[in-house]
Amino acid sequence: MKDILRIALLIALPMPGAQVRIGILGLFHPPAVTLTARSIEAGGERVELHEAVGVRAAGGHVVVTVGGRELRGTRLAASGPARIRIAGRISRAYPGNVEISAREGVLLAVVAMDLENAVAAVVASEMPHASPEAAGALAVAARSYYAAGSRHGDFDFCDTTHCQLLKEADAEAETAARRTRGRMLFYQGTVVRALHFGSCGGRTFAASDVGMDGSSYPFFAVACETCARHPERWEARLPVTAVERTEAARLELGRRFGWNRVASNDYSWERTPVGVIVHGRGHGHGVGLCQRGAEGMARSGQGAESILQHYFPMTNIGR
Ligand SMILES: [Zn+2]
Ligand SMILES: [Zn+2]
Repeated sequence: MKDILRIALLIALPMPGAQVRIGILGLFHPPAVTLTARSIEAGGERVELHEAVGVRAAGGHVVVTVGGRELRGTRLAASGPARIRIAGRISRAYPGNVEISAREGVLLAVVAMDLENAVAAVVASEMPHASPEAAGALAVAARSYYAAGSRHGDFDFCDTTHCQLLKEADAEAETAARRTRGRMLFYQGTVVRALHFGSCGGRTFAASDVGMDGSSYPFFAVACETCARHPERWEARLPVTAVERTEAARLELGRRFGWNRVASNDYSWERTPVGVIVHGRGHGHGVGLCQRGAEGMARSGQGAESILQHYFPMTNIGR
């Protein structure tokens, strides 16, 4: 029975060549974008594109202006590679097909990407120009994170640090993805949602230390040499009477007082007449792979596998 379960789990995992659906540029709440693609389908028509087209939201409809005409539908499908530009804000290329819908005057774009392309984009976005072995370790973690399953409703993952930061891949990150192709972290036969973060205060946290879900993999507090030697320090002043060390509380403070005001979960705090002063070390939730520590290990000659074994004890690497 146990073996049958295990086989079923393995079959359920996305194989190389699998796709992930990622909600993109949602942070910008764009009412309009400029889209470049090979062709689009909207309002029951399919049109080959030779230049960028304007796409805007009209309530719950998507309106695209192409060749002097307006096509209107509830959904626009673009065959990629695609580029989306939000005037004055951002322009980003995506190696995949893009679907655009609209809700209350805001466009929602979702790209369907090959898992391996998404992994390369995460590596380039989270650790630009990392050493090859650190990039390799992050590629395995990023792939495992995606393979552990969807976190949203309308799409699988978003492109922010809520899931994994996803901008554009570069050649170095593509190499890291290719060298580790298909490899993932497993704990007791199940792929691990392998969390990672910017830097720690010299020691990572177990999931339970910061009130995060450790039911499928508990994570473990491990020493981090690079950050212990040179922690990244920060300070925040907040108009509250107390702070609680959980990731949920940190995110709530971010929503109230500005994103990343409490930059990590490794801090001490003191009361003042007008609030609290928080003295902290590191950036991010502190659970899983420390990117700065991984870079330090890579520079001291350690391979991707030792980096992963260090930050994810009791796991094994497989396909
Ligand atoms: Zn997300
Ligand atoms: Zn660290």
